[in-house]
Amino acid sequence: MIIILKEKTAAQTKNRLQQHFGNKTDLFIHKNRVAINGVNEADLTVEEQAGVQEIIMDHPAAVQGSRALHPEDTIIKLPHTIIGGPAGFTMMAGPCSVESETHVAKMAKVAHDGGATILRGGAFKPRTSPYSFQGLGVDGLKFLRQAADQQGMDMITEVMDEEHLDVICQYADMLQIGARNMQNFSLLKAVGKTNKPVLLKRGMSASIDDLMNAAEYIAAGGNHQIALSERGIRTFDNKYTRNTFDVSAVPVLRKLTHYPIIVDPSHAEGHWDLVTPMALAGTASGANGLVVEIHDNPAKAFSDGPQALKPEIFREMTKEVFALHEVLNSFVSQKGAVVNG
Ligand code: PEP
Ligand code: MN
Repeated sequence: MIIILKEKTAAQTKNRLQQHFGNKTDLFIHKNRVAINGVNEADLTVEEQAGVQEIIMDHPAAVQGSRALHPEDTIIKLPHTIIGGPAGFTMMAGPCSVESETHVAKMAKVAHDGGATILRGGAFKPRTSPYSFQGLGVDGLKFLRQAADQQGMDMITEVMDEEHLDVICQYADMLQIGARNMQNFSLLKAVGKTNKPVLLKRGMSASIDDLMNAAEYIAAGGNHQIALSERGIRTFDNKYTRNTFDVSAVPVLRKLTHYPIIVDPSHAEGHWDLVTPMALAGTASGANGLVVEIHDNPAKAFSDGPQALKPEIFREMTKEVFALHEVLNSFVSQKGAVVNG
C-alpha cells in the first residue's frame, strides 16, 4: 500500500506511521508518500486515516523503484555526466573488452569525439565459453581509468562477482551488472551496499517485472542510483539478430519506474549494420541514453566484433541520435509535457 499524505499534516502522520509500522514491516518514505508492505487501509488508526489524501493499492511489488512512490525522474550525477531527467541524453561507448592500454586509449578518444561522456569496457568478461578471452582483470581497470581520465570521461565496467567488487569500485564511476547476472541476488545485494551508480542490464529471458524486482534488490540495500538497460531478449527468431530488441520495454519502464533507461542496441542486434537503426528506435522510444560498442578493427576484436561500430560509423550514428533527440525534445517542450507521472 502507498499512502499519499495530506500536505498539512504530513510530518505528523509520517511519524505516526513509522512508530506504528516501522518495526514490523518494510516502510519506505519518499516526500509525502509512504509505502508500507503487508498492510491495508483497515490497519490504520483513526488519526492515521485522518492524514491520508489518497491510497494506492495497485503498484508494482518493486515499490521503491515505482513511480507510484517516487513520481519524479531519478537523476544520476557523475563527474562528467548527468543521466536521467527530461532534457539530457547520455552516450556511453567503448570496446566490448579492454584489449590493451593503447587500444582502449584510442577507443576512448573515438567515444569522446562522438559525444560520449562515459567510456565503457569489460575488464572481467562473462563469456559463453570458458575458453574465450576472459578479460585483462585489474590491469584492464587501470587502462580504462587512465583512458577515461585522458578524455575527461566517466567510466563504467561490469562487475561479474562480489570478489572483484571492491577493486572495481576503486576505479569505476559506475558499475554494470550484466544480463547474465541480473538475478544474481547476492551480487545485487552487494552492489546495493556501495555508493556507486549501477547500470542493471535486463536478463535475456527476464520479464520487465523481473528486471524491476532485480533493481529493487539494489534499492533495498540503500543504493538508489540505478539505471536500467534494455539489451535485447531471446525470442524464437535469432537468425538475423542476436536477440530481439524489446523497444516497447522502454515506454513501459518509463511509465513504471523513475530510473533512467539506457538502451543497448549492440547486444540487442549483434550485427553492426543494425545498430544505428535500433539506436534511433531506442532514442525515439524515450530512452535516456545509449550504450554502444565500438572498435577500429572489428574483425580482430577480442569479443563481440560483429556488433562493433567502426569510428566513422559511430560518429555518424551519434550525430543522427543527438539530432533526433533534439527534435523529440522540441515536441515535448511544445506540448509542455515531461514524460513522467
Ligand atoms: C557487455 O556489455 O559487454 C555485455 C556482456 O553485455 P550483456 O550483459 O548485456 O550481454
Ligand atoms: Mn559485448
